[in-house]
Amino acid sequence: MNDVIVIGGGVAGLATARELLQQGASVTILERNRCGEESSWAGAGILSPLLPWDYSESVTQLTQWSNSLYPGFIQALCTETGIDPEFHVSGMLVLPAFSSEPGVGLQEDRLRAAEAWCVRHDFPIRSVRSHEIVPVLALDEPALWLPEVCQVRNPRLLRALVQAVEMKGGTIIEHAEITSWKMAHEQIQSIGTSHGEEYTAASYIVTAGAWSRQLLREYALKLDIWPVRGQILLFKTQPGLLATIVLQEPDNFYLIPRRDGYILAGSTVEEAAFDKRTTAPVRKELLEKAHRLMPALTEEILTGHWAGLRPGSPGNIPVIDRHPVITNLYLNSGHYRYGVTMAPGGAQLISNMILNKLQSLDVTPYRWPA
Ligand SMILES: Cc1cc2nc3c(=O)[nH]c(=O)nc-3n(C[C@H](O)[C@H](O)[C@H](O)COP(=O)(O)OP(=O)(O)OC[C@H]3O[C@@H](n4cnc5c(N)ncnc54)[C@H](O)[C@@H]3O)c2cc1C
Repeated sequence: MNDVIVIGGGVAGLATARELLQQGASVTILERNRCGEESSWAGAGILSPLLPWDYSESVTQLTQWSNSLYPGFIQALCTETGIDPEFHVSGMLVLPAFSSEPGVGLQEDRLRAAEAWCVRHDFPIRSVRSHEIVPVLALDEPALWLPEVCQVRNPRLLRALVQAVEMKGGTIIEHAEITSWKMAHEQIQSIGTSHGEEYTAASYIVTAGAWSRQLLREYALKLDIWPVRGQILLFKTQPGLLATIVLQEPDNFYLIPRRDGYILAGSTVEEAAFDKRTTAPVRKELLEKAHRLMPALTEEILTGHWAGLRPGSPGNIPVIDRHPVITNLYLNSGHYRYGVTMAPGGAQLISNMILNKLQSLDVTPYRWPA
């Protein structure tokens, strides 16, 4: 019998499995389709909350701690697998919603508050003009420069994680959709797939992203995780045209440059239940925004358009905890907009919980609501 079964092979499940394997546990991942093809693939790979000062301390402590783990996490993945997830510091230029209209005083107050937050949290920030940092933007305007924001390339990170899990002796079973729970004495005895197979382990971790609540059914209790669709466009430009992430308020539209010249433009935040189709109006809207911000981005070099379903959660605070009643059931899900950022930290927290190890930070904000 396995020590642990992980249900769902996105970034949360793969990072969790890898961490547990590293700590000596035997692990099987059960994935409904193929690993790393849902939200974790669709995501943009910015390793920071978009406007970090707008979030609670629960989000800040987890993202900052996870960020501190990222260099070691990536280094180990590169060494183990030879796959480079293109983790690097690219900085983020924030174009705030300045206005000459009444209310500008409020904007000034917000900026001062953002700067104060950055000082408090040791998060470097500098006021600049946008062309100082990104000359190819249409407008030269007052902006904020966050020089230490990092990014990663999601599909490569996921490929490296799959390989690392297998190399460490983990078992990955794809096309295995969990649909039933066998329960006795407040413990899971086994879980069953839509094809009728049964799997047994000492502990079970749900990392099923936007589908976590649906999968847990009545065992979800008051867990609040729902799907939030995000669409992204992909442009192909020459390498080096854009070197840093650009984020534009008020709707937090962003451009993210990859090293080989691809630029991602996104993303939307849409309530569309479990529908992850792309839509023509969003394509038009994102294309217009991208072109307005950076005129070199045109329809002719638009090469991709996709959508993914984020695991939405109140306040963007994930649940990383043992079930309040079922003693061998755990959850690491609901990372909403920052699941890639939170992946190494979330994996360590849930693994420490299962293995009864001390935690590096206060886990009370990530409790399973009963
Ligand atoms: C457009 C977009 C942009 C984003 N940008 C960023 C960003 O810049 N930075 C950042 O940190 N985060 C970003 N995110 C958020 C991030 O991608 C998610 O928070 C993260 O990927 C969630 O990971 P996950 O493993 O929980 O979910 P998923 O990747 O969705 O994985 C869940 C897995 O569970 C499987 N599953 C579901 N039900 C079952 C079942 N019954 N049985 C077996 N398997 C099952 C699914 O098939 C899936 O593979 C973005 C997301 C989107 C959509």
